[in-house]
Amino acid sequence: MSERFDLIVVGAGPAGSSCAERAARLGLRVAVFEKETFPRSKPCAGGLTSRALGLLGSSANKVIHHNIRTSEFSVGPRVTVKWTGRDTIIATTTRKEFDQYLAERAVSAGARVEFGAAVNSAIDLGAHVEIMAGSRSLSAAYLVAADGVRGRLMGMAGMPPLKLSGAAYARVFPNTSSDLEPFLDRVIIDATVRGGGYGWIFPKKDHLNIGVCGGATLGPDHVRDVDRFIEQHGLGSWRVEGHFARPTPAAVGSASLAKGRILVVGDAAGLADPITGEGISHSIASGRMAAEAIREALDGGDDASTTYRGRAVAEILPVISHSIRLGRFLHALGPGPLSAGLRIPGMAGLLEFWMPRMGHASVGGRLTIDASSRGRRTAPHVKSPT
Ligand SMILES: Cc1cc2nc3c(=O)[nH]c(=O)nc-3n(C[C@H](O)[C@H](O)[C@H](O)COP(=O)(O)OP(=O)(O)OC[C@H]3O[C@@H](n4cnc5c(N)ncnc54)[C@H](O)[C@@H]3O)c2cc1C
Repeated sequence: MSERFDLIVVGAGPAGSSCAERAARLGLRVAVFEKETFPRSKPCAGGLTSRALGLLGSSANKVIHHNIRTSEFSVGPRVTVKWTGRDTIIATTTRKEFDQYLAERAVSAGARVEFGAAVNSAIDLGAHVEIMAGSRSLSAAYLVAADGVRGRLMGMAGMPPLKLSGAAYARVFPNTSSDLEPFLDRVIIDATVRGGGYGWIFPKKDHLNIGVCGGATLGPDHVRDVDRFIEQHGLGSWRVEGHFARPTPAAVGSASLAKGRILVVGDAAGLADPITGEGISHSIASGRMAAEAIREALDGGDDASTTYRGRAVAEILPVISHSIRLGRFLHALGPGPLSAGLRIPGMAGLLEFWMPRMGHASVGGRLTIDASSRGRRTAPHVKSPT
């Protein structure tokens, strides 16, 4: 006879571990199956936005490398917008440490987590769900698919495939640790490096994570743009490890969220922001929402798929749709008009008011515009370390 759970979660990334932790805290009997052995790396820039930090609480501090209050956006020829938050706007970590930390949280809450255990089939039998993990058969009242952007469970459940874009990055190590210092107090976002996307530089303890995302489907041009970006910042003599390239969701829709007793969370449901690439906060939020919907259904409430879909559509999809609309607008405007617009007197004040109201800069702060062609330099461009 197969082992029986209230909930089986497939995948122990941020979505799966957050779902399992919340479900176990709500008293469900939960098993998580993760195909990799932890600690493992996962291709990611490891940036935790203020929204993700708000969901995690202070225990996440132990895996944080840098708490950063300043973001420098290059938006067009010689125009940089510098946002300095009153508090941390982004913290950096590595996915090796972060995912291990989240899995430990799930285990402490009472979830059973098995590593090196790939789930190779899942079937919704109406009254329950059955899976095969290796040669074992297990069943549960519900299944949460948290198997990431390349996950196969959605397909097994008959849901439509995700539309994909891509991201690529390298780890770039300095020749001496003092070379890193000029990069430690901010993240750099450069919209000029890739059409329809952007480049990032995120500082870690001993290296920089430098990458690009967006635009068309993942291809060799992503890697080429990473190299160009590294050169552009005068880092060609640093040691480059990588490149690492992965698809990212390019669109979002409610069709991929749930079907019958299978609820899909995180990247598997396409819940990463297609413009910013940010997916960790939505993974945590969607994982927790699914767990709560299942608890309510087991207590005699509405069907878990309907509850989960309704909440994700109300709380997560609008944040992503807003970002898509904004991204399309900015890209349609193009770097020339955008740069010219930012030179209009009073624009910094207007944006300062508006930024915290956008999903991605929930921390208030100060904004300066460096329109260096006007001879005004409030935010110096990054100096290339010599
Ligand atoms: C290059 C890059 C940079 C990024 N940078 C950022 C960033 O800075 N900040 C941010 O917020 N987001 C970022 N993202 C997005 C972020 O990485 C994802 O949104 C996030 O990892 C999604 O979490 P998840 O738990 O849904 O999926 P994942 O983290 O992909 O976890 C899925 C897990 O499922 C396991 N799995 C898959 N199939 C099976 C199976 N059959 N059986 C058992 N286990 C299985 C996998 O091994 C994996 O551990 C980035 C993405 C990329 C590609």
